[in-house]
Amino acid sequence: MSAVPFTDLAAMTQEVWPSIEADYMACLLNADFVGGPPVETFEREWAAYCGASHSVGVANGTDAIELTLTALGIGAGDEVIVPANTFIATAAAVVRAGATPRFADVSDETLLMTPSAMTAAVTPRTRAVIIVHLYGQVPDMDGLLAAAAEHGLVVVEDAAQAHGATWSGRRAGSFGTAACFSFYPGKNLGAFGDAGAVVTSEPELADRVRALANHGRVSGAAHYEHIYVGSNSRMDALQAIALTGKLARTEAWNERRRAFAARYREQLIGTPVRLVDTDPRAENVHHLLVARIADRDRVQAELRDRSIQTGVHYPVPCHRHPALGEFADRPMPVTEHAATEILSLPMYPHMTFEQVDAVCEAVTDATAAGRTDREVRYVA
Ligand SMILES: *Cc1c(COP(=O)(O)O)cnc(C)c1O
Repeated sequence: MSAVPFTDLAAMTQEVWPSIEADYMACLLNADFVGGPPVETFEREWAAYCGASHSVGVANGTDAIELTLTALGIGAGDEVIVPANTFIATAAAVVRAGATPRFADVSDETLLMTPSAMTAAVTPRTRAVIIVHLYGQVPDMDGLLAAAAEHGLVVVEDAAQAHGATWSGRRAGSFGTAACFSFYPGKNLGAFGDAGAVVTSEPELADRVRALANHGRVSGAAHYEHIYVGSNSRMDALQAIALTGKLARTEAWNERRRAFAARYREQLIGTPVRLVDTDPRAENVHHLLVARIADRDRVQAELRDRSIQTGVHYPVPCHRHPALGEFADRPMPVTEHAATEILSLPMYPHMTFEQVDAVCEAVTDATAAGRTDREVRYVA
């Protein structure tokens, strides 16, 4: 049987390259590598796509979160709620900003933060909540935004896995005071290296993020006039050109991911495999196709034997990392149990229905019977 990779970034590059080649070369010859018109063009298009008025290109998604919190004045003494089921960068950025992460557990259906878990994490020191649209799905924004408003919390979105995802028809990036995106190559919209953005409809916040990402230089100020102590977290022009080219294809690529996700669901009916649910109010962009399998490690090994690449997002819950152990103040039963079961199956725009079927067949075989049955069947 033919191998199925976890993703295929080269296929995306090949599709987009003819449309960006000339701009790429022009940028190299202009030698205007950091910021400049290509970055401004992408920022404008990205803000419009998200349904916000401003977008600030930065170096990566982790910086986007840290810079946003700092620009909001959130730091020492402040608590920020984050879901326990997320990539470590969400919580690490809170710590880097000088604040304290407070973990909240997730829904067993979607593995996304629930309004009740969020509310349970609120203390008198809580200033903000980072709502993470994990795996490509926006969580229950009706409930989360209402709970955040009730407790006076600033809402920041971590939309690193949700380019184009919607809730009630509104796109990720348009709900919070600010939203943070990563354009790491493997994300639904990925650069040819690291890149990120902060999206907001508050112009002062956008200006502050931009200044903090550019050595504390405020626009309009003289080149060596620094108003804040900032850092260097700017977007490269070459990344912006790649992103503008790929943005024109993001909707079509997300549509293909949805078609493959539907095929997975259809093919796995009647097996012991449970896929992470999509809420009917959410339009999922399936950054990851996450299955839950009781005997996950064995099934993953069998798929590997059949040259099918899979991943686990994430094997260690955020609050269980040694780096963040001091912030793990309560058990997170749903996240902790899910971490033992989750398996991310191949999902990328350039795969084929035949490949989806091959993965489903392998998963069905591996989960259908115990080891012994399978060995007997293989011998026969
Ligand atoms: C990728 C990712 C980040 C970090 O983005 P980088 O660009 O890799 O720094 C943050 N949060 C989530 C949920 C992510 O998936």
